[in-house]
Amino acid sequence: MNRMFRDMHDAYGRVLDRLLESRKGKGVDPYGEEVINVRFFTDYNICNYSCPYCIAGQANKDEIVDEWDSTNYDTIIENLAKLPRRLNVRIGVGGEFFVSKKLVAGARRLSNADNVQSLNLITNLSLSEVQYRRHFQGFDTDKLAIVASYHPTEIKDHDKWLATASFVKEKFDFAVILVAYPPALAKLRRIRRELNSLGFVVFVQGYIGQYMGLSYPQSYTSKDRELLREVCYSRHDYEFFIEAKKPGLCNSGYKSFYVNMTGKVVPCGMVNGYEPLGDLSKSPHVKLNDGPQMCRSETCFCDTENMNTVVFEQNYYRSSKNQHVYEYRDEEKALADPSLGEWVKDYEDVV
Ligand code: SF4
Ligand code: SF4
Repeated sequence: MNRMFRDMHDAYGRVLDRLLESRKGKGVDPYGEEVINVRFFTDYNICNYSCPYCIAGQANKDEIVDEWDSTNYDTIIENLAKLPRRLNVRIGVGGEFFVSKKLVAGARRLSNADNVQSLNLITNLSLSEVQYRRHFQGFDTDKLAIVASYHPTEIKDHDKWLATASFVKEKFDFAVILVAYPPALAKLRRIRRELNSLGFVVFVQGYIGQYMGLSYPQSYTSKDRELLREVCYSRHDYEFFIEAKKPGLCNSGYKSFYVNMTGKVVPCGMVNGYEPLGDLSKSPHVKLNDGPQMCRSETCFCDTENMNTVVFEQNYYRSSKNQHVYEYRDEEKALADPSLGEWVKDYEDVV
């Protein structure tokens, strides 16, 4: 970056930081409006766990081929770091992020980029505190948000997992994700309550896949749904993850984009057939759409993609760096007018 551009960029960043600070707590999304959400899916597919419900297929290790093609990884990272927009980047994997030193090094670089406002990483939290400390050396840790997935079938030492989670929570913007795997539903309420009592933000994702010959999330029973309404982080999560709501209008390609390991930038990685908006294996140029577009999918199950939707934006605002921490916009109004309550009002498609 030449000096003049860097100075302009820094000045813009400082103004934006002040603006974001002044908006916090006023019902206006301090992180979502001027910041572009980026999902960089790396295809990295090595994991030290074998969760039975893994959508990346890690339960069948025999079918996992250890041939991750990292060719474009560093170039995409560098082009993201040069992109002339403020970014909230989430690096996605089909395995465990912190197993790969290359992935960690790229994330470290991104955390130190001027245009990156926040960086979201996910881990199964299977490493020790010492190992995490080592990995986080050299990061701009103020920008980091961590989501830890809690996998009861794989965790060997529950207390140790909680101790590591407490360490990460002290240092970073932190949330825990639980999967509503049908045979684990009976324990979900207790696990969530325990994690909440320790001060962790917890969200629950519906199970996507087959269990005992039934397809989920569609096959949750009405009793399951009653429980899931209670444990879900929000009405939004419940509607999208459990009720498999049709998405409607979406800001993907406008306020967010998805990049894969070829460098191709598209509005969203959940739907095929989009015209590319850029190629980050070649240049930092991304041409975003002028406004939201209608989602072409019947459902949007990914743990954060559904927050690109207009219905999310109308009802919630992000309240932290973490891509899965947000607040209901009408919380205060609902005190005076219960018809505006989060679980009462219509939660229709925005079309
Ligand atoms: S930790 Fe994540 S990637 Fe690894 S097996 Fe479990 S669900 Fe799959
Ligand atoms: S609603 Fe979900 S699936 Fe549809 S375009 Fe948006 S992010 Fe993609």
